[in-house]
This record gives sequence, structure tokens and C-alpha cells, in this order.
Amino acid sequence: MILYEEPLSRHSSIRTGGPGQVVALPESTEELISVLERVREGLLPSPVRFIGNASNILFPDGGLLGTVVSLKKMDRFDFRPDGLIEAQAGAFLPRLAFHAARTGRGGLGFLSGIPGTVGGGVVMNAGTTTGEMSEVLREVRLASPDGSTFCVSREDLLFSYRTSEFQHEGLSEKTSRWQDCVIVSAVLETFPSEPARLLAEWERLRRSRSKSQPLESPNLGSVFRNPPGDFAGRLIEEAGWKGTVRGGIEISRRHANFFINKGGGLSRDFRSLVEDVRLSILRESGLRLETEVEIVPEETPAAV
Ligand SMILES: Cc1cc2nc3c(=O)[nH]c(=O)nc-3n(C[C@H](O)[C@H](O)[C@H](O)COP(=O)(O)OP(=O)(O)OC[C@H]3O[C@@H](n4cnc5c(N)ncnc54)[C@H](O)[C@@H]3O)c2cc1C
Repeated sequence: MILYEEPLSRHSSIRTGGPGQVVALPESTEELISVLERVREGLLPSPVRFIGNASNILFPDGGLLGTVVSLKKMDRFDFRPDGLIEAQAGAFLPRLAFHAARTGRGGLGFLSGIPGTVGGGVVMNAGTTTGEMSEVLREVRLASPDGSTFCVSREDLLFSYRTSEFQHEGLSEKTSRWQDCVIVSAVLETFPSEPARLLAEWERLRRSRSKSQPLESPNLGSVFRNPPGDFAGRLIEEAGWKGTVRGGIEISRRHANFFINKGGGLSRDFRSLVEDVRLSILRESGLRLETEVEIVPEETPAAV
């Protein structure tokens, strides 16, 4: 499906962002390759940006030129008899974790409350204190802009805390080998376990999240990465920012590292809170907080 002048807010988990010039939603690898081909031929506009569930990206209020490719409709996965799971890039992590638990495949419980896709999970090395994507990943299949596909195994990929070399602002210049590639699918490892126990763990994690996180309002999860040995949420709370409202965006009263859209919030409200919180923490504790959320800059100054 190809949509023109499509509001990106419809594809964002915080519900902000202006129109995308083109938004493509391929349903198969073949359709994805065909989108890349049309971009190469100039039938669809450049640049191309890939997204999953956009639960970690802040889109600009002024929208984006080029083609945004959402992998959300490539969401199938197969459980192989050898314990491996082959998942398309758009597979929704909580759904994957639930089905793995139901069929007695352990190791993916930590994904149960992360509302992203397999592709976005790999790029972000998504995880919790009990596990992260790089620990369960066997290999990824990538497609390059020329439409060729190839596999890269876990050993050949660099990961660290909420970072991978797929990120544009990832580890370093020289490791950005796969920046222009799209993740098409991934193979994940599991181990055999008792379905009842896994399902109970899935439910426990889900409940504990809905107590500690403001899941009833649109948000992007943790805004800042935790600095070594500390928690961004603790620092923000201690600096007195909890409950601060700017436009329609509020720093959650339940979890200070979550910024929620109370209705009508704009990305610029979010960005301005990010800058002010960062400056205040820098002044108070000398720490410069880095964002975990990817903030896409405005393309047109007039839209800011
Ligand atoms: C309520 C809530 C709770 C959260 N809890 C956690 C948590 O506990 N732990 C955690 O790690 N994160 C958490 N997050 C953040 C987020 O869900 C994860 O970072 C997730 O992995 C992002 O996946 P996504 O599909 O939404 O990626 P997106 O936000 O769509 O994209 C993230 C990045 O990946 C790139 N990308 C996406 N798909 C592809 C692809 N197929 N090929 C190439 N590049 C791609 C994008 O260009 C972007 O750079 C939370 C978010 C919310 C809203």
C-alpha cells in the first residue's frame, strides 16, 4: 500500500508528526524490494527511512519529504522444529513473546512489554534488566538499496546498551556498515520450557509494567538512556520535573522518564522539554543525558 501526504502521527506511538510525502506499507519481501526499486528509478521520492511501530522515533511536526517505509505489515513468524524462530521485521514483539510462551519456547519473556517490532528491536537492541535482543538474535536478513538480500550473523554485528551499528548515531563512523540497509527478517533463539510457567511470567511482566508506566497515554517509552550506575527517571524526578506540562506533552507523574501526549501534543513541545530537562540535569549533577528516543529534526525551519 502506498499513501501520499499521510499524517505520520497515525504511525507514531506518541501520535505526533506532520505528513509524510509518501508512506509505503509493503506486505512481503517482494513488495519491499519493489518499493526500493521504485525509489531507485525515481518513481518514489528519496530519501528512504524505515520504521517499525515508531515506538522509539519522534517525527517532525513539519512532516518528512521522501519515502517512509513502514514494515508493520510484514509481521509473520514461524516456529521451527529446531527451536529457532524466523520472524519478519514487522512482527510485533509482545505478540511474538506471547506465542513463544504459549508453545513452550523460553527466553523471550523480556520482550513482552516492548511495543516495537523485530526490526526496530534489533536496531535499538531493545531490552530490559532481564535480557536484550542481541542475546537471543542468531542472524538477520538485510536488503540493501539495490534490492539484494543477504544474511549477517550475530557474531558479525556490534551491539551495546540500547545501541547497534544499524543506528545512524550508533557506535561510530567506521561501524556504520549497514546504515542504508533494511532489516527484512531475523532468526531468534529460544529454549524449551513449560508453557504455563512462561505464560505466567508473560502476564506478570505485563501487569508490572502497567503499574509503573503511563501506558494509557501515547508515549515513546524511556526518553533518555540511563547513565552508567543511575536512572534517568530518578534524576528527572529529583530535579522536580515530574508533572511538567508543555503544550500537550506532560512529563509523566508515574514515571519521569516517560513524556506523554495528553492530547494535541506536538513534537516541538517534546523537544523543548528534552532540551530543558537535559540542561537542568547537566547543571545539577554534571551529567549530560543522551536520548534513547530518536528525534528526527524538522526539515523546514518554518515548521518549528
Ligand atoms: C510504552 C513503551 C515501553 C517501552 N519499553 C521499552 C523497554 O522496556 N525496552 C526497550 O528497549 N525499549 C522500550 N521501548 C522503546 C521501543 O519500543 C523499542 O526501542 C523498540 O525496539 C522500537 O521498535 P519499533 O519497531 O517501534 O522501532 P521504530 O521506533 O519504528 O524505529 C526505531 C529505529 O529502528 C529503525 N528501524 C525500524 N525498523 C527497521 C527495519 N526493519 N530495518 C532497518 N531499520 C529499522 C528506525 O529507522 C529507527 O532508527 C518502549 C516504548 C514504549 C512506547
